[in-house]
Amino acid sequence: MAGRKWKFIDNALKNRRESGQFRKLTPVIPGKEPGTVIKNGQELINFCSNDYLGLSAHPYVVERSVEFLHKYGAGSTASRLISGTYDIHEQLEEKLASLFKKEAVLLFNSGYQLNTSVIASLANRNSLILADRKVHNSILQGALLSNAELKRYDHNDHDHLRAMIEESGTTGYSRIIILSETVFSMDGDRNDLDKLGAIAEEYDAILYSDDAHALGVLGDRGLGLNYENDRVDLSIGTFGKSFGAFGAFASVSQSIKDYLINYCGGFIYTTSLPPSVIGALDAASDLIPAMEEERKQLQNNIRYFRNELNELGLSTVESDTQIIPVIIGMEKEALDLSVFLEENGFMITAIRPPTVERGSSRVRITLSASHTEAQVEALLASLKKWIRK
Ligand SMILES: *Cc1c(COP(=O)(O)O)cnc(C)c1O
Repeated sequence: MAGRKWKFIDNALKNRRESGQFRKLTPVIPGKEPGTVIKNGQELINFCSNDYLGLSAHPYVVERSVEFLHKYGAGSTASRLISGTYDIHEQLEEKLASLFKKEAVLLFNSGYQLNTSVIASLANRNSLILADRKVHNSILQGALLSNAELKRYDHNDHDHLRAMIEESGTTGYSRIIILSETVFSMDGDRNDLDKLGAIAEEYDAILYSDDAHALGVLGDRGLGLNYENDRVDLSIGTFGKSFGAFGAFASVSQSIKDYLINYCGGFIYTTSLPPSVIGALDAASDLIPAMEEERKQLQNNIRYFRNELNELGLSTVESDTQIIPVIIGMEKEALDLSVFLEENGFMITAIRPPTVERGSSRVRITLSASHTEAQVEALLASLKKWIRK
C-alpha cells in the first residue's frame, strides 16, 4: 500500500513472510462423509477440527436448530438486556445449570468474547492475576484488559504459582485471581484442579478454569473436568467444540451471574445468540451426557494413536487427550509435513510461532469420535511414510 501511514502494515506482513509465519485462510466445504472436508475439489479427512463428537452435523442437532429458526426467526433482534432474551435463552441456561449442578449459567456469544470481557470485569487495576503461561489467548487478553497486575506462572508449575503469590504479598490487592484451563488447547495436557483449588483456598483467590476442550469428552458423562468441583468459582465452557455449534457459557453462583449481567460489557453490549444456535445447543445438551459409546471409541482411538506415534519416535509432549501435538521443531518442516499429509488425504494444520514457542512448531492432530479405526490407521501409515522419506 502506498503512503507513509500504511508502512507499518507493509513491514508487519513482510516480517511474517520472511520468518515463515505468514498466515492465510483456506476455504473448505463439508464432505459427504462425517468428519471430512473438500478442499480444492479433494476430499480430506479432517484431523484438526474441534467437533469432537461429530455433533455439528448430527441430524437431531440440525433439526432442532431449524425448528427454532422457523419459530423465532434468524436473529434475536437485540442484546439480552433489551429484547434479546427469549424464553429459549433462559430455558437453555436453566437446562445447563441443572445439568452441571450449578446455581446459574450465563450464555455468551463466544469463548473469546467471554474470556476477554468476564476477566476484565472481575479484576481492576488493584487486583493481582496469575495466569498459567500456556492459557488461551482470549484469557490473556482479558487479563490485560483488566489493567490488573498480571503474572504468568510456568506451565502447570504450582510451586512457581505459590512462590509468585508469596512474593507479591497478598494484602495490597483488591483480589487475587488464578486463571487456568482444564485441557490446554495447544499441548492437550491438563491442569491439576486439586492443587489449584488448594492454593486458591489458601490465599482466598478466585479460581477461573476454562473447560473448553474437556466438555463433551472428559469427566462424568462428558460434563468436563470442572464438573462438581466446588473450588472452581467460574467454570467456563464453549459451544464451538464438542457441542458442535457456537457460543460459550459461564457456570457460576447466582450472585456472580447477576454481577456479570450488570457489569460485564461483553455480555451487555452485544446482540444475543440467534435462535438457530440456541436450538442446536438445546439438542446437543440432550445428546452429550448419553454419548458414552462415542467417548469410549474416542478414548480408544486416542490411546492407540498416541502409543503408535511414540513408537515411531514422535514426541507428543504431555498430551493425554484428543488434542495430540506432534512436535516437529522448525516452522518449515511442520509446514512441509502438513502439505505432505494433505497430499495423502488429510487436513491437519501446522501450528507455528507466535502461537507456540520458537522451535516447537508442530502439527496439531485432533481426534474425534466420528473418526473410524481405518481413518486413524490411514493417518498412521502416512506419518510412517513421511518419517521414512
Ligand atoms: C476455543 C477456546 C476458546 C475460544 O472459544 P470460541 O467460542 O471459539 O471463541 C476459549 N478458551 C479456550 C481454552 C479455547 O480452547
